[in-house]
Amino acid sequence: MSCFPVPGFAYHDGVLTADGVPLTEIAAAVGTPVYVYSTAGLEAAWRAYADAFALGRPDARMDICYALKAKSTLAVIRTRARLGAGADVVSVGEMRRAMAAGIPADRIVFSGVGKTRDELAAALKAGIHQINVESLPELDLLSAVATELGVTAPVALRINPDVDAGTHGKISTGRKEDKFGIDFDHAGEAFARAKALPGLRPLGIALHIGSQLLSVTPFQRAFGKIGDLVHRLRAAGIGIERLDLGGGLGVPYRPEDRTPDYAAYAKVVREATSGLDCHVTLEPGRSLVAAAGILLSRVVYVKEGLHRRFLVLDGAMNDLIRPSLYDAWHTILPVKEPDPEAPLSPMYVVGPVCETGDTFARERPLTPMRAGDLVAFLTAGAYGAVMAGTYNSRPLVPEVLVARGGWEVVRRRQTVADLLEMESMPAWLTP
Ligand SMILES: *Cc1c(COP(=O)(O)O)cnc(C)c1O
Repeated sequence: MSCFPVPGFAYHDGVLTADGVPLTEIAAAVGTPVYVYSTAGLEAAWRAYADAFALGRPDARMDICYALKAKSTLAVIRTRARLGAGADVVSVGEMRRAMAAGIPADRIVFSGVGKTRDELAAALKAGIHQINVESLPELDLLSAVATELGVTAPVALRINPDVDAGTHGKISTGRKEDKFGIDFDHAGEAFARAKALPGLRPLGIALHIGSQLLSVTPFQRAFGKIGDLVHRLRAAGIGIERLDLGGGLGVPYRPEDRTPDYAAYAKVVREATSGLDCHVTLEPGRSLVAAAGILLSRVVYVKEGLHRRFLVLDGAMNDLIRPSLYDAWHTILPVKEPDPEAPLSPMYVVGPVCETGDTFARERPLTPMRAGDLVAFLTAGAYGAVMAGTYNSRPLVPEVLVARGGWEVVRRRQTVADLLEMESMPAWLTP
């Protein structure tokens, strides 16, 4: 299987471990469901970028701004920051998180298609490194806000290169019909407008074509359009000095998925940007955290249906929505190492939420399991806990970070009392 073993997770003495810590120990102490992140996994994911792009070199002229939306727990952000990452944020909440985790504002890029006046003002007041603007009305608003505050906003315009990333429809963002960015044919006019407006300093081009790309070909097509644009803009007197090439590199989820070729990706970036004399930023999210996190859950019942056998877990779609939302596939491993001779039989792996969509896997060949057994959903570090909700009044599950044999809860389990505390009864319903 190409997705197991993964750095950080392995069987030792018959038990699945994270950085050497048996997951049984964490489940016993914290309860289930629980997300567990491996520091070794986070470091390995960073190294893949650092090696491919030779980040350590003084002449690298490149930044990795971790896209927080993939996983934004403070301890995970700080682990990333200590390795050298900046941040890419898509809301003022994420900007505050990045700063609370220790990433200074001048290493934060603010992306997103619907930034509000308040968000733009907060970003400018904080001294943000760059705002990636996605539309003409946003340019106008940013100009007004910057002028009011008496500052100059460092602006990159997000250009939609009209390239189909060939990935799931819900995570493709670079096609003409997608809601993101300014279409390529109108880029010149948009930059001219940005140059003419007060309070703006247009200095960069931003692109982000989609997520979970396992091939570098769509990147090559999109990045290949940049050189010409840079030259055209410079000829028009717009000083392009930064290129933000977005994120989007994928990770293997299924055994048959290939691992993206980081060296080939780096080559595509180098070829597209060499000679342009620009500082290059990448904004990877998923590829920096997906494989470093798992969702640990316990079997509540093994239920024999009329035609199907169900594994009913204590984890549900509100904890990990990717299978319901994107038909995503997660490898499911028993925490107790199965006997290699044990027979496999097809199981429906489901959660307790009252929706048929609360199904993690259909007809998944698994070894025999009993109530009380623990299972791990692999590659759940990205777009897992961050997308969790409280549907069915299920509190958010806790998160644990493991490092070099030790572990700590880095986000506590929400309680039902926490949920109720946010609500109040209107006067006419109080006795
Ligand atoms: C989501 C997003 C990213 C990160 O994408 P991944 O596929 O997780 O690497 C980067 N940049 C922008 C603008 C995004 O919206």
